[in-house]
Amino acid sequence: MKTFRGGFHVPDNKALTAASAIEQMPAVTDYYVSLSQHIGKPAQPVVKAGDEVVEGQLIAQASAFVSANIHSPVCGEVVDIVKRKNAQGALVDAIHIKANGKQDKFAYPPLTDPTPAQIIQRIADAGIVGMGGAGFPTAVKLQPKDPVDVLIINAAECEPYLNCDNRLMIERTEQFLQGVRLIAKAIGVTNVYIGIEANKTEAYDKLLAQEGVISDSKEALANRKESDVVLVQLKAKYPQGAEKTIIKACVNREVPVGGLPAAVGCIVDNVGTAYAVYDAVVNGVPLYRRLMTVSGRGVNAPKNIEVAIGTPLSSVVELCGGLNDRTIKLVSGGPMMGFCLADLEVATTKTDSGFLALTDKEASSVLPTPCINCGRCASVCPMRLMPMYIDFYATVGDTDNAVKYGALNCFECGTCAYVCPAKRPIVQSVRLTKMKAKEKK
Ligand code: SF4
Ligand code: SF4
Repeated sequence: MKTFRGGFHVPDNKALTAASAIEQMPAVTDYYVSLSQHIGKPAQPVVKAGDEVVEGQLIAQASAFVSANIHSPVCGEVVDIVKRKNAQGALVDAIHIKANGKQDKFAYPPLTDPTPAQIIQRIADAGIVGMGGAGFPTAVKLQPKDPVDVLIINAAECEPYLNCDNRLMIERTEQFLQGVRLIAKAIGVTNVYIGIEANKTEAYDKLLAQEGVISDSKEALANRKESDVVLVQLKAKYPQGAEKTIIKACVNREVPVGGLPAAVGCIVDNVGTAYAVYDAVVNGVPLYRRLMTVSGRGVNAPKNIEVAIGTPLSSVVELCGGLNDRTIKLVSGGPMMGFCLADLEVATTKTDSGFLALTDKEASSVLPTPCINCGRCASVCPMRLMPMYIDFYATVGDTDNAVKYGALNCFECGTCAYVCPAKRPIVQSVRLTKMKAKEKK
C-alpha cells in the first residue's frame, strides 16, 4: 500500500460513527453566518438589518481575489451584523439571521456541459472553499500560475473520529464522482487520482464499482483509458491526508519546501469540495450546507449530520443527545489539527468537518515536562524537521533559531506532539514562531 515517510498510526476511533448514515440537521431559529470562513479577505455584506433573505441568496460577496461569496442558510430576516467568537477564539463579524419558517430557495441556473471557464465562474459564484479545513477559495486554487497535469482528490480523511468524507463517498458516490470530473475538466487534466485510506473499505468498494474508476494495480493501469479515475489505496497512517504527503503517496512527487502542490504539477482537492462543485454546477446550489461528524465519547449520540452554515454548535450538540459529564475537552475539527473550544457559543462554518467532545480516556490532561531528547518527534515528522529544536527556541523566545529549524515549513499536523513522551506543546510553539516571524516581517 502506498504511503509517505514518517507519520504514525494514531488510534482512529472512527467506529463511533463509521456506520451512521447522514442525518439532516433540522432548522433552528437563529443563524450566525461568519464573514471570515475562508482564507483571504472577509466577505463584504450585501444585506443590512431588516432585509428579508431566502435560502441560498447571496448575503456577502468576495471582497478580493482571495475571498469567497457567502449565501444565506435559511429564509429569514437579517437582525444585524454582530461580533461573534470563532473556533480559534477570535471575534469576527457575522450576519445574524432569524428564520421565518418560509421554504423559498435561490439557486443558480444548472449548467449542462459547461466549459472550464463556466465551471470556475460557478465555483466562485457559489462561494466554494476547501472543505478539508483550510478554506482556500477553490476558484483561485483551480487557476494556478504553474502548469498542472494531475488532480488528486484527498479522500484519506486521516484525522481520527471524522467520517463525513467517508459517508459522503458511500451515500453520494455518483454525485461525488461527477464533482471530481467537473474539477478535472475545469483545470484541463486527465490524470485523476483519488487517494483513500485502507480503513474505508465500503467507500473504496463503492467507488471501484463505478463506471470509469480503476484501481492502481499494474494490470488496471496497463489497460487504463484516458478518462479513467485511478483509486489509490493508501496505508492508514496520520497525516496521510496532508497535501504534501498525499502527493508523495499517489504520484511520488515531492513539493519543494515553501512551495505549493502546483509547483510539482498537482492540484489537491477534498471530497466535500468535489461534492460542493457537483451541487453548484449540476443543481445550481451554492455552498451553505456541509457534512460534519459529531463524535467522541462525551457525546451521547454521535452522528454524521448535514448542517447549514451558521447553525449554533449548541443546537448541533443538542441534536446529538447533548454531552455527558465525562467530557473534559471540546474540539472543533479533528483531534490532531482541530482547535480546543472554551464553550459551545460558536456557529458552524464551511470548513467545519467535525466537532468532538472527548473524555479523560481520550484526551490528555497531563502537563508538559522538559524535553528528554528522545528524538521521537523527529522520527515521525513527515517534513523531516527537528521539532524539539523548534519547541526549545520558541520557548526561550529565540524566533530566528526556531525559524532556522524549519518552523515555517511545518504544516502543524501535530504528529510530533502526539508521540512526545514529555507532552511538549510543539504545535503551539510552531504557531507562536510563525506569528512572531510575521510580526517581525
Ligand atoms: S514539526 Fe510540524 S510537520 Fe513535523 S510532525 Fe510536528 S507538526 Fe507535523
Ligand atoms: S519527542 Fe518530546 S521529549 Fe522527545 S525529543 Fe521530541 S520534544 Fe523532546
